[in-house]
Amino acid sequence: MATQVELAVSGVITDAMKEIATREELEPALIRQRIAEGQIVVPLNTRRPCSIVGIGTGLRTKVNASIGTSTDIVDIDAEVRKARAAEAAGADTLMELSVGGDLDKVRREVLAAVSLPVGNVPLYQAFCEAAHRYGDPNKLDEELLFDLIERQCADGISFMAVHCGINLYTIERLERQGYRYGGLVSKGGTSMVAWMQKNKRENPLYARFDRVVEILKKYDVVLSLGNGLRSGAIGDSFDRAMVQELLINCELAEIGRKMGCQMMVEGPGHVPVDEIEANIILEKKMSNNAPYYMLGPIPTDVGAGYDHVVAAIGAASSARYGADLICYITPAEHLALPNEEDVTEGVRVARLGAYIGDTAKYPERTRARDLAMSKARRDMDWEGQFKHALFPDKAREIRDSRAPRDTKVCTMCGDFCANKGSSDLFGHLLAGTCKE
Ligand code: SF4
Repeated sequence: MATQVELAVSGVITDAMKEIATREELEPALIRQRIAEGQIVVPLNTRRPCSIVGIGTGLRTKVNASIGTSTDIVDIDAEVRKARAAEAAGADTLMELSVGGDLDKVRREVLAAVSLPVGNVPLYQAFCEAAHRYGDPNKLDEELLFDLIERQCADGISFMAVHCGINLYTIERLERQGYRYGGLVSKGGTSMVAWMQKNKRENPLYARFDRVVEILKKYDVVLSLGNGLRSGAIGDSFDRAMVQELLINCELAEIGRKMGCQMMVEGPGHVPVDEIEANIILEKKMSNNAPYYMLGPIPTDVGAGYDHVVAAIGAASSARYGADLICYITPAEHLALPNEEDVTEGVRVARLGAYIGDTAKYPERTRARDLAMSKARRDMDWEGQFKHALFPDKAREIRDSRAPRDTKVCTMCGDFCANKGSSDLFGHLLAGTCKE
């Protein structure tokens, strides 16, 4: 069966392309053209129907939530609840990143629990299975790895973060530049570096990139090029190892697309706010505008406990400059496995960051909502305010918990409500203007 890229290149507008066009209020022909050019991807799987989400140039910035067991906490029911919480909070995609317990079972239960496109990182299970089977993750053999990627695709995974760009040349850059402030922060990347050093061999995901592409193409899965050497401290942003891997990933994105596979590139990580724009430009230029999946970024290292807010600030900036998919960060980041409440909070705050980025990226599409809210606020139209708020339930909950005597105002200023006072003074100026 042909992939979305192959169909787009041959001029076919698929149902998925039409649905994206409707949702984003764009022309189907434009969606087809950008998929053909590798600027938009649609996480899908021929084996599992899921909600249709377009990621890439000209589309609303999307938000991903990641869940999954750890080696310390294995509770599949909790992971299913977290997956549902992410969907309810408005995540566009979900990544199932378990490394503890029965990994096939948790993946299948999560896939059955939500309608979102679900992504994963195949290296996690590969190294877990090698450790279980041979007593040493570094004994992972290539056939086990490729069989596992196929098994996960056959289960219905829609996008896969595959660490293809971390190769012997990348590691040489890391060794020559010296160690880093933040070390390596990718589980899959670190395990693959250990495997390459122990076996003195090239990363099979790089050496046999064609085989990875062919498996994912079979199911029309998006190949998301994982960022194994992403900066995990703002002091490591743009170091040579990170840039080298990004360069290789951008090259692979083009090769994979020409082979007919949907391709996306992953970014960092921790990036100071003044370097975010340059990071996005670099990826977009080097990949010919392949969709960019930013892990925030986190623009300061000192926000533990509030890293979801830190990352949302990074997300607002990265979305503004062209990031296409934002991975949420939860309040538990750097501290513990997130719980259900952390997931909900993380998704909401990431959505807020992405939305703010979109107000700069697409002012013509977003300003109407802000204006509608401004007017409702000016006119003390509380139902209107709840209607236009991104999180009406939260807004209503706070207002109702501290109800005012005069229902026109709120308990912040009460009798001194500036909105009420100024509308008494100047409300007449509105007559006959577009600001009514
Ligand atoms: S009371 Fe104060 S905060 Fe509340 S609506 Fe009026 S001006 Fe705004």
